[in-house]
Parts: sequence; C-alpha cells; structure tokens
Amino acid sequence: MTPETSIYLHIPFCKHRCAYCDFNTYANQEDSIPAYVNALIKEIQFVGKQTNKTNQTSSTIKTIFFGGGTPSLLSSGQFDSILSALFSSFNISPNAEITIEANPGTVSPQKLDSIRKAGINRISFGVQSANTEELKMLEREHNFFDVIEAVSSARKAGFDNLNLDLIYGLPEQTLSTWQTTVKRILDLSPEHISAYALTLEHGTPFGKWAEKGLLPLPNPDLAADMYEWTCEYLAETGYTQYEISNWALKEERGKKKEYYCQHNLQYWKSLPYLGLGAGAHGYINGIRYSNVLRIKTYIERLSDSQFPNLEYPLSSATVNHKKQNVQENMSDYMLNNLRLVEVGVAESDFHLRFGSGLLDVYQKEIDELIKKNLLERNAGSYRLTKQGRLLANQVFLQFV
Ligand code: SF4
Repeated sequence: MTPETSIYLHIPFCKHRCAYCDFNTYANQEDSIPAYVNALIKEIQFVGKQTNKTNQTSSTIKTIFFGGGTPSLLSSGQFDSILSALFSSFNISPNAEITIEANPGTVSPQKLDSIRKAGINRISFGVQSANTEELKMLEREHNFFDVIEAVSSARKAGFDNLNLDLIYGLPEQTLSTWQTTVKRILDLSPEHISAYALTLEHGTPFGKWAEKGLLPLPNPDLAADMYEWTCEYLAETGYTQYEISNWALKEERGKKKEYYCQHNLQYWKSLPYLGLGAGAHGYINGIRYSNVLRIKTYIERLSDSQFPNLEYPLSSATVNHKKQNVQENMSDYMLNNLRLVEVGVAESDFHLRFGSGLLDVYQKEIDELIKKNLLERNAGSYRLTKQGRLLANQVFLQFV
C-alpha cells in the first residue's frame, strides 16, 4: 500500500530579505505573484495527473504546508485558487493538517478569517524574538506588538493550532533577554513552539559580517545554556519536546489533541512528500528531487501548456533528481529519525522499512555513541541523550 503523503508548496516572496536568511526567497518581486500562482497551479495539476496515472491513487495527502518566503503575502483569492487546484488534483484527507507560514504584520484579520474558512487550519508565525533590539538586528520588519495582534486575530478567526518560531544564540543576546522572549510568547499560549539556534550561513549579510569580524559572534556556550534552560522551562510549563528544536502541547493541558506538527513529522520519519514551487524539494518512491530556484525561470518552465513525458513525481520545474540506493535511504532515515527525541530510531520500524536489523547495519556506530553518552537505548529504540541533543551534529556525522 502507498503510504500517506504530504505536499510542501514554496512561496518565495518576502517584503525584505532578513540579514541572516539563506532561504530561497526574493524581495521586491511581488509583481510576479499572480504569474507565480498560475505556474504553481499548473505544477499542482500536472503532478496530480501523474499521481493518478502512476497508480498512486490510493495515496492520501495527510498534510499540506505553505512555506517560504512569506506565504502570507498571497491574497485570500490566491489561496482559494491554489487550494481548489490541490483538492481537485489530489486525494486529500478530510482531516489533513494544512499549515501556512506567516509573518506578523502581513496578516489582516480579514485575511486570517478568509484563509481559515478556506480550510487552512494551522498557522506558524515567524516571531524570532520579543526584544525590539534583537528584532532590529535580525532586520525583521515586525515588532512584538504585531505578534500580539496577529495571534489575537488568528484566534478570533478560529485558528486553534498555532506555532511560534523563535531563534536563540543571537549576537549580543543574553540569557535574560532570551528568557524574557520565551516567557512573553508563553503568555500567548501557542500550541506549538519551535526554537532554533542561529546559524551563520555563508553568503548572507550575517555570514559576511562575521567573516570580517564585524559581528559579535554568538557564544556557543551561552547558546547551549539557552537551549538547556528552554528544554527545562518548557517541560515545566507543560510542553513536550518531541524533536530537537520543537515542543508541543498534548492532551493533558486540556487541549483536545496532540499538537505535534504532522507535516514535519513526515520529514523526520522519512516518509514521502511532494515539493512544489520554486526551489521546493521532494522525496517520494525513493527519489529525491528539487525544483529550479529562480521565480522567473520557474514561471517560464511551467508556461508551456504541453508538458514533456516525465517520470513521476517530476515536473518541468525539476532541475535535480536522484533515485537513492538503500544505503542512502538508511542514512537519511537515521539522520531524520534521531531528531525525534522521545522515540528516536525504533529497531522494529527500521526492520520493517529496510528488511535488515538496525544493529546488523549500525552496531559499531551505535556502540560508540552510547559509550560517549550521546545515544541511549529505550524500549527497543535508540534516542539522543541530553548531551546528544546538544551535540546532535556529531551524532549525525556517524551515519552520513
Ligand atoms: S521573512 Fe523569513 S524567509 Fe523572508 S527573508 Fe526573513 S527570514 Fe527569510
């Protein structure tokens, strides 16, 4: 049976490019949004047809994720058109989790109301910090009052599954300003929190300034203290850490369900997903593929009404694809599943997936990591220890 699938749609537009960002996104290109949406709809319809042709009809779409960029720059009408193309091209589960990433300050109460009515049922706000100076340094365009307003409007529109994204380990950030940020976002009672350490990406203004010594580099020890404090504090306040950088409420807080991000779980469990839009990545039937990055080229590639004969799940926007071998699939599986700090890698699931015993393949690596106190065995699974969460990259290197 074909496993349930997810769909990621990339919306590569931002009002302004933040100094630390290395995502595939472009500022001052909003004029291209209508043509981009038309191209995206064509790609949805083409891949949808291929899905049906290639006997994938039993595969239900369990999650849809609009990521960016800033998807909230699209109008309600544009979301309606994309969603209607998705629903007529794919077999979408009636309970599908449908998420949109949004920047506070780009969502009016009216827009939130209409996208909620159109079926989007989860919203992820890029908050990053509650501190005005830190937001300025990151070149974010919003302030914390915009966050409060956006969250309150989202609640009024009926969103009951809300994520707030944060970044820690910022230059000149103190433990105290970080603690204040976490406490202030808890006042907004999000169902889900993501907190990622700042990474200085090559080619970004932050990366260039750091190379020239112009940016006070984040202190790794302080960033580790921030992470450890966050894990403890969020646990005390009722949030379950289910992934290295992600926390969610569960039923015990009087909420009606578990609020783990189902879309990201699909990635972390190495399950299939389609990637649509400029620069989107996908992984399905053992094929990893990615689309052309530039908006203009993406639109041009989708402009022909006649599509070439392409292997599922590729479209004319695809620029790279590779059928992975078993070793590559196993390695990806380890890197993804080890991120899940509660369960880790279950021996039974590994065997089900690959027909080989986990220890037959990775005994040496696992023994070494257990010896270093980076991995632990727990009821038929191997998962990161507290120390392993801090040094996850070292753990992952063992399986590359
Ligand atoms: S809003 Fe997000 S995607 Fe856009 S430039 Fe800033 S960090 Fe990057």
